[in-house]
Amino acid sequence: MVSRRELFSGVRGIIAERDEETADFDTTCIFQDLLGEKNPMFSPDLPVPDDKAAEILSLAKRRSEGYPLQYLLGQWEFWGCNFRIGEGVLIPRPDTETLVEQVLDICRREKLTAPKIADLCSGSGCIAVALKKELPQADVWAVELSEAALGYLKENTVLNGCEDIHIIHGDVLKKETARSVMGLDILVSNPPYLTAVDMSELQTEVRYEPASALFGGDDGLGFYRAITGLWKTSVKEGGFIAYEFGMGQHDDVRKILEGSGFTDVELRRDGGGIIRTAAARNIFE
Ligand code: GLN
Repeated sequence: MVSRRELFSGVRGIIAERDEETADFDTTCIFQDLLGEKNPMFSPDLPVPDDKAAEILSLAKRRSEGYPLQYLLGQWEFWGCNFRIGEGVLIPRPDTETLVEQVLDICRREKLTAPKIADLCSGSGCIAVALKKELPQADVWAVELSEAALGYLKENTVLNGCEDIHIIHGDVLKKETARSVMGLDILVSNPPYLTAVDMSELQTEVRYEPASALFGGDDGLGFYRAITGLWKTSVKEGGFIAYEFGMGQHDDVRKILEGSGFTDVELRRDGGGIIRTAAARNIFE
């Protein structure tokens, strides 16, 4: 049997062939997950049973081929909560925490302690769950089309004690779905927003994620146009839409919002300094 130290160094080497920068982190995550300990390297001399070592090495090999670490682990953290994930659902990204922060700031400022919120294109449910955790009195709705994502979404609401999030299996681009949730204080969404060109240049890891969660039409803006138009009447007068989008899309998203009678557009930067979210207030003409 190999020691943890020997195995760690072997696994690190395999992963580093692909990506030197993340090799320590990825190896640590795989060890934590497979050995079920937070600090497995506190005991570096412990032997690793052969079957465990084989399992760890096989994950390392898949990782070295570009398979996402998050899917290998089957879970990922967002907003301090744990989310089950796997192929078929978008991996929660730290950038999206900016969107959660912006919605929470609006709720504080507007003194909305029990807002009605809908999260469109909810995916794993990370936004809906984070908001429900912070605003336990909120009436939270999550809309998702993909069957695969829906399974994770349901599981994640239960796992995080948020069973009272209302889940709708539906297409956000259909009028009937929009009409099924009315009187919203806040509509929040991180829809697919990559352009056709972005899709042709995806990093290997991202190619394993569902294209339906990434591709936003040729110019990447299809969902913003459709959602803003179709869902405007589902948002209360004086209520808000808050969107996440990609680098460089803020002016277009702002125009789409303003063109549908949303005002006071507030943009926000993510942790990497990229303008990542916009929120605007609904005014009825
Ligand atoms: N942030 C994702 C990416 O850059 C895209 C997610 C989305 O389209 N909403 O890969």
